[in-house]
Amino acid sequence: MGSQSVDRRIQLSIISGFLGSGKTTFLQHKIFKKDHSSICIVINEAGDISIDDVLLDDKIEKIKISGGCICCDSNAEFVEKLIDLCGIRNHANADFNNRIDTILVETSGISDPAAIYDSIVNHSILGRNIVVKGISVLLDAFDSNTFISEPLIAKQLACADDIYITKTDLVSNEVVAQKYNIARYFNPSALIRSCSKGEIQNLTEEQTRQFGIKSILPDAKTERVNSYETFIVNLEENTDWNNLVIWVSALLSCHGDKILRLKGIINSPAGRLLVQGVGPNIQKPQRLPKEFYESKNFLVLIGRGFDKTDIKRSANFLNT
Ligand SMILES: [Zn+2]
Repeated sequence: MGSQSVDRRIQLSIISGFLGSGKTTFLQHKIFKKDHSSICIVINEAGDISIDDVLLDDKIEKIKISGGCICCDSNAEFVEKLIDLCGIRNHANADFNNRIDTILVETSGISDPAAIYDSIVNHSILGRNIVVKGISVLLDAFDSNTFISEPLIAKQLACADDIYITKTDLVSNEVVAQKYNIARYFNPSALIRSCSKGEIQNLTEEQTRQFGIKSILPDAKTERVNSYETFIVNLEENTDWNNLVIWVSALLSCHGDKILRLKGIINSPAGRLLVQGVGPNIQKPQRLPKEFYESKNFLVLIGRGFDKTDIKRSANFLNT
């Protein structure tokens, strides 16, 4: 009898999706029932400060790569970290159970998962030690506008193995069906399901009703846009909550079309909150665990075509 060698490579999954599509919620669900000791999560945020990881269990090993996107400017750092992980695993002979056998990569919203994939499978060391199990791409059902102006979403969808339409609890079945048709148009082969509040479900007949794609995407562009910018607005510790709410609303009503993502940690009468928004939509803030009570107050903005100095100047209103 021939001895069949077991594939002992680390299994890696890429979780992608545009800014605010719900990647961290999805990740929380994905690791919920798993043995945390064998998982390592790589979290990439294009901004300088990493926030997504505060929402994930402390017991899980995490590698944070911030300040650049792992598909391009921070790719070398990403590859290096993965090589380290492979090395640790290969030397950890003494304790098989403590080895990492699963890596989950949460990409930044503005990365191209295909490039990340390529950088692993085409690498001499990584290609031998890691198997990419799949690319999951999340598509935000609630965000109706970004898609039209965002060719990167089409690119993300095109390379997915699995597509999850997120936040389906917030929209009608018709809207879900539109997103389904968009996803199907760009990716004829992916398995498309919904993921609402971390719960994965099959789409219903109504949610997969056929639309002519032209009626949904009349002028979708196909070329990639690269000109994203990130900047941070630092806030005083005693920033007035009411002023902040006013400033953020004003900011989004003036520049909502240019700001793709807003995230921040701020004080409120209800405690410390993580505030997140996509385009003009701000999600319900999440209360942060006690250990984040020490961190500074700040907002991170990602977008393009906005005047940073203008926005920073107007933010001074908060710190007076
Ligand atoms: Zn990139």
